[in-house]
Amino acid sequence: MAAEEIRAPPAPPLYSGEGSQSAPPGGRCSAPLRRRRRHPRSPLAAAMGVLPVPAGVRAILLDVEGTTTPIAFVQETLFPYIRDNVEQYLRAHWEEEECQRDVGLLRQQAQEDSGLDGAVPIPLESGSGDEELERVIRAVVDNVHWQMALDRKTTALKQLQGHMWRAAYATGLVKGEIFEDVVPAIRKWREAGMKVYIYSSGSVEAQKLLFGYSTEGDILELFDGHFDTKIGPKVESESYRRIAASIGCDTNNILFLTDVPREANAAEEADTHVAVVIRPGNAGLTDDEKSYYSLISSFTELFLPSST
Ligand SMILES: [Mg+2]
Repeated sequence: MAAEEIRAPPAPPLYSGEGSQSAPPGGRCSAPLRRRRRHPRSPLAAAMGVLPVPAGVRAILLDVEGTTTPIAFVQETLFPYIRDNVEQYLRAHWEEEECQRDVGLLRQQAQEDSGLDGAVPIPLESGSGDEELERVIRAVVDNVHWQMALDRKTTALKQLQGHMWRAAYATGLVKGEIFEDVVPAIRKWREAGMKVYIYSSGSVEAQKLLFGYSTEGDILELFDGHFDTKIGPKVESESYRRIAASIGCDTNNILFLTDVPREANAAEEADTHVAVVIRPGNAGLTDDEKSYYSLISSFTELFLPSST
């Protein structure tokens, strides 16, 4: 990889929609990357496997999926957990107010979805008795499975999932997976006076569960704050300006680490420093993206002059 990184940047990648894995469907991000990398890694730094943190950076902003955490954790642990345990969860929590609110919201969503192909209605409990309860629970389970098969992101589905994950983390059935270089590196950055923040499309609540019940224990103390898409989409540069304002610094005081070039591009548009993280299981980068962005495959490659 080092050999590729020290090459002079070639023509910028074209986000033309074809031949680029990260190509957006269109819009502003479809413009080609025109700038040369502002802080190219020196051949020596590349050979040593380090990426110097640009002077002036005071805060490191971290993406989660594909950056601190394997993408597979969400796809192969979190979502299957819901599919496999929703029935059991509903039985165990059915009488609780929160669970009844979740079911009510799913029922409402099911009514809105009634015109969709394969939609699964959720009947009201029309009496008491085990059979009636079974009938309704079965419908909720089928509805959840149907929505998940379509990868829907309805509030109703997300709310139930959030409550199920909260219970799963709290009881130790699920632990947030974190790449092993992450915690030692963040501790070092903090010792060097760096602030560290999370910015993920997963909700702040989901982030706190992941890092509060992680394979490395409760590591929430390592973060100075959390952002999710309430502050704006990760592919829009304005989001990075809002984050800087919220932190109380300039955008160029921030280094953003992400696995997604479109996010890196948006951050860079806002004058935020970026490095693209390569992790096992991440989508591949085009040759142009590899040449354009500073790349790291471990947080330990970030070199803080003051942390030697
Ligand atoms: Mg990511």
